Amino acid sequence: MESPILQGLNPAQRAAVEAYDSASLIIAGAGSGKTRVLTSRIAYMIQKGIKPKNILATTFTNKAAQEMRERIVKMIPEHLTEGQARHIWMGTFHSIFARILRTDAERIGFPANFTIYDASDAKNLIKTIVKELNLADDKYKPNTIASRISQAKNALVTPGAYLANSAHATEDRRAQIPEFGNIYNLYCQRCKHNGAMDFDDLLLQTNILLRDCPDVLERYQEQFKYILVDEYQDTNYAQYIIVRRLSQHHGKVCVVGDDAQSIYSFRGAKIENILSFQRDYPEAKVFKLEQNYRSTRTIVEAANSVIVHNSRRMEKRCFSEGDEGEKIRVLKAYTDREEAELVVQDLRDKVRATGDAWNEAAILYRTNNQSQALEESLRRRGIPYRIYKGASFYDRKEIKDMLAYIRLVVNPRDDEAFRRIVNYPARGIGDTTVLRIAQLAAERGVSMWEAVDALVAEPVSDPVQRTIVRKVAEFVALIRSLSLERAQKGLYDFGMEVASRSGILALFRRENSPEATSALDNIEELLNSMQLFKEQRDAEIRGGEELGEATVEEWLQSVTLTTDMDKKEDAGDDDKVTLMTVHSAKGLEFKYVYIVGMEENLFPSQRAAESPEGFEEERRLFYVALTRAKCSAVLSYAEMRFKWGNMEFSRPSCFLREIDPRYLDGAVGAGQTPVREEAAAGGRTALEELRRRFDVRYQQRAGGSGNPSFGGAKSSFGGRGGAYSGGSRPESGAPSFG
Ligand code: ATP
Ligand code: MG
Repeated sequence: MESPILQGLNPAQRAAVEAYDSASLIIAGAGSGKTRVLTSRIAYMIQKGIKPKNILATTFTNKAAQEMRERIVKMIPEHLTEGQARHIWMGTFHSIFARILRTDAERIGFPANFTIYDASDAKNLIKTIVKELNLADDKYKPNTIASRISQAKNALVTPGAYLANSAHATEDRRAQIPEFGNIYNLYCQRCKHNGAMDFDDLLLQTNILLRDCPDVLERYQEQFKYILVDEYQDTNYAQYIIVRRLSQHHGKVCVVGDDAQSIYSFRGAKIENILSFQRDYPEAKVFKLEQNYRSTRTIVEAANSVIVHNSRRMEKRCFSEGDEGEKIRVLKAYTDREEAELVVQDLRDKVRATGDAWNEAAILYRTNNQSQALEESLRRRGIPYRIYKGASFYDRKEIKDMLAYIRLVVNPRDDEAFRRIVNYPARGIGDTTVLRIAQLAAERGVSMWEAVDALVAEPVSDPVQRTIVRKVAEFVALIRSLSLERAQKGLYDFGMEVASRSGILALFRRENSPEATSALDNIEELLNSMQLFKEQRDAEIRGGEELGEATVEEWLQSVTLTTDMDKKEDAGDDDKVTLMTVHSAKGLEFKYVYIVGMEENLFPSQRAAESPEGFEEERRLFYVALTRAKCSAVLSYAEMRFKWGNMEFSRPSCFLREIDPRYLDGAVGAGQTPVREEAAAGGRTALEELRRRFDVRYQQRAGGSGNPSFGGAKSSFGGRGGAYSGGSRPESGAPSFG
């Protein structure tokens, strides 16, 4: 009898699932069931008797992995329990490699309890090094240096190799950062000293481990008999090499991707990886999935009509047999505030008219800072929304402080954690003392923690100095005693001890401000997450899993590798409109999609539009955005937008014109002369022209559903000190200007 897993798949999908025992390249358009095939393939394999622990599968987010796991269990409940499904190595590349490194880090000179530095730790470390080397911090900007280090690491160029290659030196001189190689080198040394790895290290060090320890490589080659990679178009060189190494013997790699959706080249993703898969695995079977099951014909065709403008593409034709669906609408607004109003109104009307839930709708934007105006409009209308932002829960100050204490307890060599909290809450240890400790650490080639011993041993006669040294010693004693607590207490109780004994709780309790209250809430949430982590583990152990008790290290790692995309929503609390960047919408789908800010220099972004490759990537990004929509897509742009505190004119995105007009509801920008031209013709300033237009439009709409605001609730039209500053949103009646 045919496996139920295969039922409901089309012939191409089915063939791709059945070929589980050979290397496979599944190349397909958006929404053609790639992820579904991957999930079915894993279920099929397990049904055929392959052990879960022999499967390695990478996904774009950890949440996606979680969902996949659940789906697999549902497909083959008689073959796989939830507990067994946990044995599948599934998650992001980073979380999988972190797990591998935990076991074998000592082999490559890192402690098993290594800390994972996040982006801000990395930047702080760079700042310290730049300062130590007396370099100009306007030339050696932390962001620039960080992204260059990241590029080098993802290309597997170690500092040694970097310094040995004179081409790099030339390039750095040209970029006016001749000392970059040196900084890179010091940065890596420091990380190693501190027992810390940054995100890119999780890839680089895994590569080093697999390169230098053949026994380890062999162990994992033996274990991961089947490797599956979703979103393969966005893997970088380091990930690519690891996959190749691990699959050297068995070669049973299945990659799934869409070259038209490659959007991470700025993180080193190589579209070539997908283009050269056939060369690397000549015996690979190739499957093309071309039928889109997600979207209406209009959306699929419109997306096709845009992507054909790219020169570098793999040949494939996506089609949908779904309904024709409604045409794509373009909303035009005068300002970003008005854009938000129009979009939110449209969205509300749509959801009300269809009786759908809010979570069927998403608003996508190119950059995070576009969310503010939208949030305001949503709030004003009382529409529930959820926002995925760069700044996550774990980026909040109070959380980072708490984590720094815990990190230092786990790994006292973690200098970034040490710096962060040695005088927080304030305990009278000044910058000079911290600097002295750092100096001692540098002189002796030890961590700051170890350097404290040297400081305490230094003879001091000055009583003030003596007091300070005593305070440092007290701090060290605090961390040591917390370390004892950790050994004796459960996860939650340990967290509670940290919060109270560090003085953080008392600090916020004394303060009694709204900020302090929210900080206390956040700390409570952090402690709850520790409790939850422990309870989950206990349940697994009760379920017969051979696992040890949940440890602080494990919890810490899960926290560090959590991205905002992974955050769990409380059950029953997820009927919300989603707001996110196009990048984070990868792989997701919504009935109604709004793409805002369709303007030149925004989408496509200015920086990316500077090179043809960058431009094509922006187009792929737009393709990704459009293909998230199941039923309808609405695009919007504003003629003026706040940028850096100033109102700036903007032009509609060239991508709007690339959409075949057959799929558009009306022409883009039809019947409207650009503001500046019409202003000149009428002898008005551009601002006057905008105001005139707004009045006309407002009168046309008066009595209609909306009450558009020109300047927006808080914004000051005209920017800093402009003639129209302070324009407030009218409660009723006509809008007022200044
Ligand atoms: P993306 O490129 O955005 O990652 P994808 O190729 O991974 O998309 P999926 O997310 O797997 O596509 O599938 C898109 C939608 O189509 C899902 O809702 C999925 O359930 C549905 N789908 C896939 N295959 C079929 C099929 N054979 N019959 C019906 N629906 C299908
Ligand atoms: Mg997918």
